[in-house]
Amino acid sequence: MFRRELLDAIAAEVIVCRKCPLWKTRKNSVPGEGNQNSQIMFIGEAPGYWEDIKGKPFVGAAGNFLDTLLSEIGFSRETVFIGNILKCRPPKNREPLPDEIQKCTPYLNSQIRIIQPKIIVTLGNYSTAYIFSKATLPFNGITQAHGKFYKASILDIQVTIFPTFHPAAALYSGKYRELLQRDFQMLKRGLTEHRI
Ligand code: URA
Ligand code: SF4
Repeated sequence: MFRRELLDAIAAEVIVCRKCPLWKTRKNSVPGEGNQNSQIMFIGEAPGYWEDIKGKPFVGAAGNFLDTLLSEIGFSRETVFIGNILKCRPPKNREPLPDEIQKCTPYLNSQIRIIQPKIIVTLGNYSTAYIFSKATLPFNGITQAHGKFYKASILDIQVTIFPTFHPAAALYSGKYRELLQRDFQMLKRGLTEHRI
């Protein structure tokens, strides 16, 4: 099967999934979306209010800023793949629970195996913690880890991981806005070196 069909099959499963209790409070699951042939994958935390309503990733205020960051380095959301650790919104945007992460991440793992990205950009603490654990890299928080490239093997795929802050952090703090913009410029240089 082709990548598109495989991703569509995962999305169809996610839409009706009841593996963790978050199905009870969601309006829509958010499987993730984008270019199935992208060499770069962005991974956020979980859907928020607008994502839950629309069934699409990063379509609220944090998503607007992610669009800005992407356009500043010459990308658009259509050219990359954007997914999340959790596919359903935790009530009141609370943090993901370990049990929810454990139940939901097989979907993300499948998406990574299908897309086979060269670069995985993790957005925020939860996403970075999960991908670093898959890569058996030590993780001491996003503040230490961000803005650097980590060559790793996850799910038997050779990838480069680039952690940065969650774009929502920029909505409350100009400091994070600048740090994110600086990290994205660093990412752009790395993509050029990888010929992406
Ligand atoms: N924050 C996330 O981590 N993911 C989304 O899809 C939206 C906001
Ligand atoms: Fe299923 Fe993930 Fe939604 Fe839980 S969060 S119901 S595991 S899709």
